[in-house]
Amino acid sequence: MKSVKTRFPPSPTGHLHLGGARTALFNWLFARHHGGTFVLRFEDTDRERSRQEYVDSIREALEWLGLYWDEGPYFQSERLEVYREYARRLYEEGKAYYCECSPEELEQKRREALAAGRKPGYDGTCRDKNLPPGPGRVLRLRVPETGTTVVEDLIRGAVAFDHREIDDFILVRSDGTPTYQFAVVVDDLTMGITHVIRGDDHLSNTPKQILLYEALGAEPPHFAHVPMILGPDGTRLSKRHGALSILAYRDEGYLPQALRNYLVRLGWSYGDQEIFTLEEMIAKFDLTRVNKSAARFDPDKLLAINAHWLRATPTPELAEEVKPFLVRLGLPVPEKAYLVEALETVKPRARTLLEAAEMLAFYLVEEVTYDPKAAEKFLTPEMEPVFERLVRELAGVEFSDEALERLFRGLSEELGLKLKKIAQPVRVALTGKTVSPGLFEVMRVLGRERVLRRLQRALEFIRKR
Ligand code: GLU
Repeated sequence: MKSVKTRFPPSPTGHLHLGGARTALFNWLFARHHGGTFVLRFEDTDRERSRQEYVDSIREALEWLGLYWDEGPYFQSERLEVYREYARRLYEEGKAYYCECSPEELEQKRREALAAGRKPGYDGTCRDKNLPPGPGRVLRLRVPETGTTVVEDLIRGAVAFDHREIDDFILVRSDGTPTYQFAVVVDDLTMGITHVIRGDDHLSNTPKQILLYEALGAEPPHFAHVPMILGPDGTRLSKRHGALSILAYRDEGYLPQALRNYLVRLGWSYGDQEIFTLEEMIAKFDLTRVNKSAARFDPDKLLAINAHWLRATPTPELAEEVKPFLVRLGLPVPEKAYLVEALETVKPRARTLLEAAEMLAFYLVEEVTYDPKAAEKFLTPEMEPVFERLVRELAGVEFSDEALERLFRGLSEELGLKLKKIAQPVRVALTGKTVSPGLFEVMRVLGRERVLRRLQRALEFIRKR
């Protein structure tokens, strides 16, 4: 087999979303699995809708996902000469012809055809006129009138298309720009693409593209059409389903390894394995295990996979990832050792980096803000002697989880108060809230000085009530 070469050819008319990212991932994995090459190409011939901003954001999203390309990025807008050359060849060989039908005439014919119950394709008016190129003329492919073209799809199997269903489609518009069908074939051919892996919304374009390869006397690449992604309600995935762009997931605190892991399972499976490292994905990915039915987007599963990868990431590494989120929340970034210890305690509970940053807040602020309801319920006058006693005892105790627990248990017995009756007010004093990581780990991480200061402040609060 020729060395594998795949491509990802986004149109820079929007940000990279889950569907596009999955297509890129499958192409990238297939190339990596076979030791091949992955090409990035921007299909930017639509000058009206293409924007540099989207080129940049798509590149950024691919890089963030770790889907580095080996070749490119190519820009179709810089390859117009190549398309012109191929168009000339097809015209000179009689494989394509110029057509002078005006858009108004075509529209008129289209309406008549629809009204008469015929299919509205081009009727071949200029097919045998032998028109030379000229202003206002488009170049059309001469599609055989009879027979079929069979797409041997690597996922769907053989799919036959009757030529009567395919009209003489346009290759070059009257302004000289190539259509998608034409540019994509010239590019895939000249770039030596061996496998085209894309969404099955492109399946109906494939017979046209195969006819073009034939007209050019070239062997078409292998095609693999991946079933689309649906929202939880069974309609095509969109923003309505809460699906975000890839960079928006990054900004919400998702990890690239989680998104990759989630995306690889959207339409591909390997037994019942859910968690894949990058190395495993590369080793195991193939097209035979791509599902034939549509995949369903499940935001809860994505969140659960993110939580998994958060826990699986070494804390010092995660600490670096969480820093930008602390800054965004206006929190001070502490020294690394303290951050790592604090993060260790919230890591089992956080599902995103943003959640982790929010949970870290009480460790980092100078003064915690009491949740009013929690303060009302737990920072009560009865706690004054307990807190006073604690302040005295804590000055001398070792700050380990075990020693702290011993101290609290002893106190609870001595004062005849349930442990919870002491622990909960202390939790509010230290974190401002009734929910936090385990109290003794919180105290150990905060350290004696912070704990004593926060208990003193709670005492002042109680006395002022
Ligand atoms: N630019 C096309 C798209 O974004 C590429 C389709 C293809 O892979 O051929 O849908």
